[in-house]
Amino acid sequence: MFQGEGEEDLISVFKKMINDEAVSPYFVASKPNTKKIPPITHAACYGMVEITRGCGRGCQFCSPTNRTKYSFPLNYIMKEVKTNVDGGSSTIFTVTEDIFLYKSKPGFIPNREEIVKLYKTIASYPGVDYILLSHASLAPVIYDQKLLEELSPILLEKTRWNPELHKSYPKRFVSVEVGIETGSVRLMKKYMKGKALPYSVDNWPELVVQGVGIMNDYDWWPLCTIMTGQPDETDDDVRATLDLIDDLKNHNAKMFYTPVLFIPLKEAMLGNNRRTNLKNLSELQWEVIARCWKYNIDFWRPDMKWMLNPIFFFSHWFYARWKHGKKATIPMMHLAGFPIAQKTNKLCTPEYCQEDVSPRNGRHRLF
Ligand code: SF4
Repeated sequence: MFQGEGEEDLISVFKKMINDEAVSPYFVASKPNTKKIPPITHAACYGMVEITRGCGRGCQFCSPTNRTKYSFPLNYIMKEVKTNVDGGSSTIFTVTEDIFLYKSKPGFIPNREEIVKLYKTIASYPGVDYILLSHASLAPVIYDQKLLEELSPILLEKTRWNPELHKSYPKRFVSVEVGIETGSVRLMKKYMKGKALPYSVDNWPELVVQGVGIMNDYDWWPLCTIMTGQPDETDDDVRATLDLIDDLKNHNAKMFYTPVLFIPLKEAMLGNNRRTNLKNLSELQWEVIARCWKYNIDFWRPDMKWMLNPIFFFSHWFYARWKHGKKATIPMMHLAGFPIAQKTNKLCTPEYCQEDVSPRNGRHRLF
């Protein structure tokens, strides 16, 4: 395994392998001098152009945070844009751990002027028809609300959207991947303290709802990862994640949930922890996966709810039960819309839970 950045060592490792020389099975690469990273010489897949490297927020499950945080100079980025366009790509895919890290100020304060200048320059380059984004974080959009106000018109103009093909969506939207990971403030404090900077993670669930809301106001519909199975995750932590998913739903968040399981990346601080797999999941952890997909289908493809009819459900349930055990059963029934009682304590919308015989404040409660 080759771990780290390629510029310093990758070629010599390949040469050794070609010459049948011994190579360590786990090779940790030296960090490159950022000023000497060469620009690409041929067009990349999807017109990829690296705009920053590293992150520095320090999430313990993450490996890019170990890289030196660096923003590539604008002339270097535009050289790569030119290479991609000359190579036949009309799309530029800006690659970064977080677009708002680009030339950010100390303390993870976003640098609006530089970010807007970057995207304006890329958008106005002849031959660039579309711009794609990789990752972003939520705190900067709350910190500087003019950021999306200025950036959105540039990006919406360069978003791929065909009203004939995309009939379910009434207008263009910008998409970007955002890491929500958990609704548990306890886990955030333990493993991801820097994720909310320049804010504290003490109010993480509220920050998430606010950040996604601001994104939606400017027609950004993020794809959000929700991670379960982190080391030491308790039922209370999972319930907090389910609560956050419900809160987003109650705020009519326009987003795509990507439920993921914790994976110990070797280079990350949590690299020595046990990998979670579907066999170890508790019923509540299965519920996270099921609820994310239920909300995805409800929002993105309401016309496909037929897929969740009993025939579809039972054929898949028999397989899932055989493969993953009975802990998946109840969550899969929730996913299929069966009116089965839930094991969480969260107030929720009537659509997703059974009515309590004694509803408090006229609301509904999961039980
Ligand atoms: S914010 Fe994202 S890229 Fe940065 S350390 Fe956390 S997981 Fe890694």
